Amino acid sequence: MSAASAKKTPADAAVKPVKKRACKKAQKVATNDDANPVKKRACKKAQKAETNDDADATPVKKRACKKAEKTTKAETPADANPVKKRACKKAAEKKKVDKKPKNATRSPRPDAERRRLADRVFATLTERYPNPRCALDHQTPFQLLVATILSAQCTDKRVNAVTPALFERFPTAEAFADAPLEAIEELIKSCGFYRAKAANISQASRAIVERFNGEVPATLEELVQLPGVGRKTANVVLGNAFGIASGFVVDTHVLRLSRKIGLSDEETPEKVERDLNELVPQNDWVDGSHRLIYLGREYCVARRPQCDVCPLGEFCLKQP
Ligand code: SF4
Repeated sequence: MSAASAKKTPADAAVKPVKKRACKKAQKVATNDDANPVKKRACKKAQKAETNDDADATPVKKRACKKAEKTTKAETPADANPVKKRACKKAAEKKKVDKKPKNATRSPRPDAERRRLADRVFATLTERYPNPRCALDHQTPFQLLVATILSAQCTDKRVNAVTPALFERFPTAEAFADAPLEAIEELIKSCGFYRAKAANISQASRAIVERFNGEVPATLEELVQLPGVGRKTANVVLGNAFGIASGFVVDTHVLRLSRKIGLSDEETPEKVERDLNELVPQNDWVDGSHRLIYLGREYCVARRPQCDVCPLGEFCLKQP
């Protein structure tokens, strides 16, 4: 028997193995789920054993238990730690700052520069298309209103092919208001979205008969109250049937071209219209819309713009 062994008291020998086991249990609990009641009991046992320990006699066990505590802390979610919370917030804020808005690469050009660009664009377009006219055939404001409703998601050519028979059968707002929906649908079927368009034409006709004595109103505010009539349709009707320049007509061509040329960085027709209205003199709003539409059809076709022969090729910014 060694001298060290000889110094061990019987009490020491009895206590140490129990403590060792308890500490192992504590470590196990710390690295696993705290929610397990059986494990929790084991941890309590370990803590109890530790508090009964003689401080000098069990330094190894204490270190082990501290490690176990550290592991448990490390496993708690970051939210519980205020320092980590602050770090998380900072990281989130940095992320926000780093995340650039969709249009961040496009810096808006100064007004003067954009105005000069608009002057060149519309002077060139006026030379290229001296006598523009509305592409939708019509005899009255009401017919133009109906034709413009039909032209949504449809070519003007297709609309012009449909309207002669339609207006022969239903020549006035009263006639449309009294017509069965199916009869209108049948005549406009080839224009696409014919059910929705027929319903809008029918309801707009009734509103015109009931509220405006069968006459198309001549103000933007009244026109946009009619079913199926937005700012674009209202501007078409006012500009071409009444000679009132109420605003730029922003259809699919004008929307695309304004952005491509660099006249506007906006993405909605309303905002592009606001930009064009500011850049172009009011007496050029109606013809200017037609001219941009002409250019869109002839050169700036969405999928294959012909920049090398386009009259605006020299100064168009050709933005994506
Ligand atoms: S230059 Fe090109 S991108 Fe610009 S309007 Fe003409 S066809 Fe379109």
